[in-house]
Order: sequence, then structure tokens, then C-alpha cells
Amino acid sequence: MQRRAFLGLVAASSLSAMTHVKHIKKEDESVWLSDEQISVFFSVSKKIDLVKRYVGHGNFNILCYDDMLKTAARYSKIGRFTKVELDFMEEIFYADPNEHGFYGSRTVPSITTKINKKDVIKIPRTGHYLFKGHSDESYSRVISDVGKSLVLTSGVRGVPKQMDLYFRKIKSTKGNITKASRSLAPPAYSYHSIGDFDVGKKGWGYKNFTVSFARTQEFWRLQKLPYISMRYTINNKDGVRFEPWHVKII
Ligand SMILES: [Zn+2]
Repeated sequence: MQRRAFLGLVAASSLSAMTHVKHIKKEDESVWLSDEQISVFFSVSKKIDLVKRYVGHGNFNILCYDDMLKTAARYSKIGRFTKVELDFMEEIFYADPNEHGFYGSRTVPSITTKINKKDVIKIPRTGHYLFKGHSDESYSRVISDVGKSLVLTSGVRGVPKQMDLYFRKIKSTKGNITKASRSLAPPAYSYHSIGDFDVGKKGWGYKNFTVSFARTQEFWRLQKLPYISMRYTINNKDGVRFEPWHVKII
């Protein structure tokens, strides 16, 4: 999204409500992107998106932070991340999300943590990767137990991928970080970085990431499997919304 478009959006909804926002903050204790962070948030989001388009969705899933920076610097149409942009990404990555209502555990120690290509396997026709061993073996078992109408919808995610998803979520909440964190783990806190994965019903698209998935036969078959469980149950302690599609391996 162009910054202009965002400013339009903001003018229409949240900026005109910025004075209003301050009241909301007090009321529900949400943490919001600060006024100073808004422009850097948009420039960073745009560059990350351009890198993703450049390397392709599949490769972007497991791209590491340093390679994202190198890719941006190498192509003039993207452009090197500026000091302000790097500081912003680090600030977000190393922030303590307890402050904005997310209580999950840190899963990625450093912003530069890499995913070794030899540790992952690409799952055909999905564009997603799984860690070799426990994750990909469990996934194969799940597919053979539930049936081929079930499919991997998100697997291993590197730091840039989780950052991209997180920033998109913040965009959709118009800057409400607390609300965003309830539906998506901050970049250093995703269990997708250590083996969890998402599944869905083939052909269901975005609906797979809604509570509708909990009403499918596939979901109920998943519930019967003793070797997996649901990471984000209703009222989970991490403060994340109910995610019936997110699989935790036992
Ligand atoms: Zn997930």
C-alpha cells in the first residue's frame, strides 16, 4: 500500500480518531503504533513486500533477515534499508510483547537467526516448508489419517516472513499493536519457527483461517489424533485468539 493511501485511510478512520485513540488507549489499554513510527512502519512494510515479490512467496517463507537486507540493497527498485528502518525492525523484534498483551514464549533468539535449507523440506504444491523429521513426519501422518482433503497452509517461517505477516496485521488493525498480537504472534514469538504448522481444507482459501474451519469434518478428524494438539485453544494463556487450524506436535 502506498503511504498516500495509508494517510487517506488514516484520515478516514484512525488519524481523525487519533485524539479519540488516546482515549481508547486508556479505556482498553491497547498499545498503538506511535505517530513517529507510522512513516517508518510503511516504508519498512513496502520494502519487505518488494523483497517478497522479488524472491517469490515460497523462498520468502524461509528467507533470513540478512538475506532480506542484501536483496533490498542489491536491487535499486527496492533500495537499501535505512538506519531508521533497521532500528525500527530491531525495536519490534526485541520488544517485550507482554506490554501489549501477548504472553507467548520467545522462539527466535536473534533477528539474524537463519533457517538452514538442509533442515527443511518443501511440501509439493503448497509453496510451504516443514522441518525435516518430527514436523514433516507428523504432517504425512496427519494427511494419511485425515485424508487428502486436508492441506498444509503455512509451515516454517523465517523472521522476515513473520514480520511481514505481523506488519500486515498491524495495518489491518489500523495501528493497534495489541489487537494485532492477539491474532498473530510478533516476529520473535512464532511457533512456526520451531515446528508448528497450519492446515486447512483444500480449496477453502482464506476461510481456513477463520473459526469456520472448526466446523469441518477435517477439523474433527484432527481432534482425534493423539500425536498432535491445538496450540491456540479458546482462552489460551498466550493471549492469542482461537486458532483451530494451528497444529502443535506432541
Ligand atoms: Zn499458525
